[in-house]
Amino acid sequence: MAEETPEQTIEKLKGESEYYRNKFIEFKTKFIDLERSTLRYKITTKIDAVMSFLVVMLSAEEGMSFSKRMMSFISTLYMWAKRGFKLEDEQTAKARLAICNACPEIRKPNYQCSICGCLMKNKTKISGASCPLKKW
Ligand code: SF4
Repeated sequence: MAEETPEQTIEKLKGESEYYRNKFIEFKTKFIDLERSTLRYKITTKIDAVMSFLVVMLSAEEGMSFSKRMMSFISTLYMWAKRGFKLEDEQTAKARLAICNACPEIRKPNYQCSICGCLMKNKTKISGASCPLKKW
């Protein structure tokens, strides 16, 4: 087998370095996209949680007393604060919401649970939150 010339070695190394450079760029782009979407998710979820407070305060679905809604909201908020306002990952939140979506206790279009009075589009994203009927 003929030995590799220095020029061939240089060409080979150039090809390899180009390959790893492209891989690095690809990885960096994916990482930045992930960071952006995670940040967007966190910011919008926290804004949603504050907005939900107002909606829970103002909305009065039939059969839900104001005090019951407030107690549920405050206990969830307290538990969430104890966990450092951590959010569940999107997959978990989606899985929880799918359960609520099929539940007879959900009141649309607000996605408000008639048992706890919480807005499930938000509550399902909160770390440590739970269904009052223990469905999730
Ligand atoms: S939190 Fe539980 S009870 Fe309420 S809508 Fe979701 S699954 Fe139903």
